[in-house]
Amino acid sequence: MDLVLSAADHYFFTPYIYPAAWPEDDIFRQTISLLIVTNLGAYVLYFFCATLSYYFVYDHSLMKHPQFLKNQVSREIMFTVKSLPWISIPTVALFLLELRGYSKLYDDIGEFPNGWFQLVVSVISFLFFTDMLIYWIHRGLHHRLVYKRIHKPHHIWKIPTPFASHAFHPVDGFLQSLPYHIYPFVFPLHKVVYLGLYVLVNIWTISIHDGDFRVPQILKPLINGSAHHTDHHLFFDYNYGQYFTLWDRIGGSFKNPSAFEGKGPLNYVKDMMEEKYNSPKENSYKNEKLSNGDFKKTK
Ligand SMILES: [Zn+2]
Ligand SMILES: [Zn+2]
Repeated sequence: MDLVLSAADHYFFTPYIYPAAWPEDDIFRQTISLLIVTNLGAYVLYFFCATLSYYFVYDHSLMKHPQFLKNQVSREIMFTVKSLPWISIPTVALFLLELRGYSKLYDDIGEFPNGWFQLVVSVISFLFFTDMLIYWIHRGLHHRLVYKRIHKPHHIWKIPTPFASHAFHPVDGFLQSLPYHIYPFVFPLHKVVYLGLYVLVNIWTISIHDGDFRVPQILKPLINGSAHHTDHHLFFDYNYGQYFTLWDRIGGSFKNPSAFEGKGPLNYVKDMMEEKYNSPKENSYKNEKLSNGDFKKTK
């Protein structure tokens, strides 16, 4: 985060905002700047990527699904907009620790090839480390003592859109992002790689809510995609993972996505539309069947 902050200081805060006498490394100034940069960055990333995904990736026919809520998209957005500033408060505390040198973040890649080799290893270990922690944190959030208060708001959306990706209760949002912050305090990580990974994990979070259920055949057993995560929204106790199916398989919570078996929400919508087209009279019966059917698991 110090890369972003020093750029913001150089081009914006120092020349235009703060009094010249206020040193850039003053902790109070750093806290204010981090709050501004973190909130702005989160909103820009969320709105830019989720909007692109919504218009170019998300299959809008999913909105015809009986479990798609009224005004769902605006509700997802409103929920996120209200949550992000709260999530940013503890996040900024961690960024501040990074900034003041308590983490293992570094900026010099070092000698070729060892430095570059470490870079690649750190990306892989970052993904596996955070995937493991998110799995257990997410599974913990489904415990009956905390589920209703903390995690249920993210499960209101049974058929999520990309805008549901960051629609969390602030405690939920912060806890599920905690692994990304813990990693650079435990393992060495290059600052630019960290920044890149931070953007990437936010894009990934959007992508598992984008309703594009396709996964390349060769990666199907390994990757936790939108098909897996949509089933998590629908059936709750399965597919808690973030990028990989690894921990769901170890933890016994893996479920082959219904979309891979031709029984996903898109198949439902297609069947429903075909039936409506072929026999309008039976439509009311079909709708009743749908809302009482497989997808009607509430918690
Ligand atoms: Zn969940
Ligand atoms: Zn989700």
